[in-house]
Amino acid sequence: MASSDRRGHSGDPFRLSIDARRAVWDQLAGEIEAHWSGVDALPVAPVLDPAALRRRLATLSLESGISPDAAISFVVDGLRAQQVHTAHPRYFGLYNPSPATMGVVGDALVAAFNPQLAAWSHSPFAAEVEAYLIRCFAERFGFPADHADGVFTSGGAEANHTGVLAALVHAFPTYREQGLSGLGVQPTMYVTAESHDSLAKAASVSGIGLNGVRVVPTTNALQLDTDALEAMIRADRESGLRPFLVVATAGTTSAGIIDPIIDVADVAKKEGLWLHVDAAWGGAAVLSPNTAGLLSGIEQADSITFDAHKWLSVPMGAGMFITRHPDILDQTFATNNTYMPRDAAGLGIVDPFNHSIQWSRRFTGLKLFLTLAVAGWDGYAGLVDQFVARGDALRQILVERGWLVANQSPLPVVCVRDPDGDRTNRTHIDRIVQRVVSSGRAWISSAVLSDGTACIRACITNFETSTADLIELADALDDAREA
Ligand SMILES: *Cc1c(COP(=O)(O)O)cnc(C)c1O
Repeated sequence: MASSDRRGHSGDPFRLSIDARRAVWDQLAGEIEAHWSGVDALPVAPVLDPAALRRRLATLSLESGISPDAAISFVVDGLRAQQVHTAHPRYFGLYNPSPATMGVVGDALVAAFNPQLAAWSHSPFAAEVEAYLIRCFAERFGFPADHADGVFTSGGAEANHTGVLAALVHAFPTYREQGLSGLGVQPTMYVTAESHDSLAKAASVSGIGLNGVRVVPTTNALQLDTDALEAMIRADRESGLRPFLVVATAGTTSAGIIDPIIDVADVAKKEGLWLHVDAAWGGAAVLSPNTAGLLSGIEQADSITFDAHKWLSVPMGAGMFITRHPDILDQTFATNNTYMPRDAAGLGIVDPFNHSIQWSRRFTGLKLFLTLAVAGWDGYAGLVDQFVARGDALRQILVERGWLVANQSPLPVVCVRDPDGDRTNRTHIDRIVQRVVSSGRAWISSAVLSDGTACIRACITNFETSTADLIELADALDDAREA
């Protein structure tokens, strides 16, 4: 039994022996604790060297298996050395959070119990926890709770895709049967240059095509220009196109811009368009009474995208699609098949696979449920306030040091440019960002806003980011600018 020798007598390689499992759990907990307590001493970002990684992987002999201890160590060493550390307090990145402890517990329990979230009857507890969370968040967004519906998704991209499909089915009831060719017209959807590109992807994979994505100009504040929207819709109708959907973003990815949702909702209503609000990150603002007003009008949306794996700090991926139309997901996704379990027929439940692009899937909602259960809504309100305060502090520190703010956002994403550089010169910005990132002191990124401004982008993503971390980032930026 050479193979079990190499595994260190750990028993059956799939379950492992009870002693081996105890050792594995201890090692696992120890490694996670070591990571969280030591991550701030690591470089935030790795040196990128794909060849070295592939060489390292090739040293691993997988013919007869290695010990669990060696396997875990191999992976932890790799993750520690070769990852942008989202748990690092100076990761100021693209909304990826430091994962809350209860979220990690949730994902571990999900892996161990492995509930199947396709048919309700296979996992009633899991299905009802998710349905409960959808109702809670729908209410928070101002939807009538007894009317709202929704589904957990892999993330914001799938939720946006779901929104595009729901809007298509709503506007063109024959779409499911006949596809777009049955329409004989080009459907058009309205976004801005600040909108997330997953919407364009949804347009291409749903058959609308990128030509059906109409990019509405933005105002000086980088918000969707509603006058321009109305004019575009009218002109498009006159030329034979069929407008069906407008997307407002509540917290754009580059600059944290909140579109004027109330005004967009007015246009949508007048023109008979579905209003989808992409609140993947910024939607969290509704959880604090101090910021909920920023999202006024979101309660008029037909559907909303929200990601728990961003501001709410649960591990990836955990998106939500929420809608005020209780029948639309059925109309969009319900299938007839002969093999799925039927044990819950007549119980007044929803089979998740009938409301989702996905079929078999994991219990995505548990990491949110457990984190919420321990933090409470009060805890989340405090987290939102804390992030906003840190964002304001960072903005102020950078302004004091002569950087120019490039985005007017009340949310904790700060875009700045160098007053000595040309406003549109991305090369200059990229050089500064590159110097900061390769120093390992902080992770930030660059972006080009829809007014052409090339900027440095820093977002508060970590609940452990302190004022000292903000100053360290500012120091790193000053050093990079001088160099
Ligand atoms: C992050 C983000 C998305 C995409 O969400 P994923 O979870 O990465 O799939 C969509 N829209 C906005 C505004 C985002 O910030």
